[in-house]
Amino acid sequence: MAAAQLGYRCHIYAPDEKSVAADVAAEFTCAEDDDIKALKKFAGACDVITFEFENVPVNPLSAIADVAPLHPPITALDVAQNRIAEKTFARTHGGTTAPFAEATDLSSLETAIDQVGTPAILKTIRMGYDGKGQARIKQAGDLATYWNAVGPQPCVAEGFVTFTHEFSVILVRGQDGFIRYWDTPHNIHEDGILVQSLVPAPAAIAAQEETARALAAKMAAAMDYVGVLTCEFFATADGPVFNEMAPRVHNSGHWTIEGAITSQFENHIRAICGLPLGDTGLAAEKVEMTNLIGGDADQWQALLSDPANHLHLYGKGESRPGRKMGHVTKLFF
Ligand code: AMP
Repeated sequence: MAAAQLGYRCHIYAPDEKSVAADVAAEFTCAEDDDIKALKKFAGACDVITFEFENVPVNPLSAIADVAPLHPPITALDVAQNRIAEKTFARTHGGTTAPFAEATDLSSLETAIDQVGTPAILKTIRMGYDGKGQARIKQAGDLATYWNAVGPQPCVAEGFVTFTHEFSVILVRGQDGFIRYWDTPHNIHEDGILVQSLVPAPAAIAAQEETARALAAKMAAAMDYVGVLTCEFFATADGPVFNEMAPRVHNSGHWTIEGAITSQFENHIRAICGLPLGDTGLAAEKVEMTNLIGGDADQWQALLSDPANHLHLYGKGESRPGRKMGHVTKLFF
């Protein structure tokens, strides 16, 4: 929709016949992510290509890399799809992460837990999001239950980070390497799912913003990144701890649609199209974005009875517990 506003015609490629993006776009190709023939035909019809899901398989995309420019770079997908590669990448660029160790079977999980201690979080190395593919390990006993719940597939055991807040750095990097940052949101998660993003963030987060931004910028530059990049952090007594990155517009930046002078969506499109980037400043004194998860979305009429609420429903059709169905943003002046 941000691209259409700039006069572009969008062609959506998705494996899901009921693609919600296709509902509001000019063209639609429904094909599997690894259908190279369909991908090449699609790429041939495009001037520039982007993606908005970090689990798009990398190999098929490599096959179209020379057909049309693809932003952000495939390297960013590659790093973000593997929790170990992602944390190692952050460390290489001077970031702090939770202690972590790989677990490929029950016995290596035991060694990994010895290394990172308890409590710990067991996560699949690949394909996890919104707290899916994760378990909290309270004590080292009975690791088989956790392994059976999250494995059996390559996992990472992470030491539990004691944090006061969670926040994200949301930046956009243009084709000339110029970076703009949005205000840092304070993110509130429940059961691994983002529930709210609040701007401006409290002082405890603001004090860690500079270090976190510097890391995100270094990582972006190292990847020759173009587009919106989001890095999630824990604010701890010892400074920001990097958790993960999303090589795309991110849920913790949805407030920018009404709450910033230029939204993350518009600046992403501007960046991938090689246009100057818009002002990322706040459009209100305070902004609150609340996710509508599962049945929350059924309250849409009540939400609209507050005339200050901006309601976004994604048109996903079927609501399921834990599924993000939309969000509501409220600005305070
Ligand atoms: P993730 O899928 O890595 O974003 O994890 C989802 C949520 O689980 C995070 O936003 C945190 O609230 C929590 N979490 C994940 N990893 C850790 C950790 N190592 N220590 C403490 N909390 C964590």
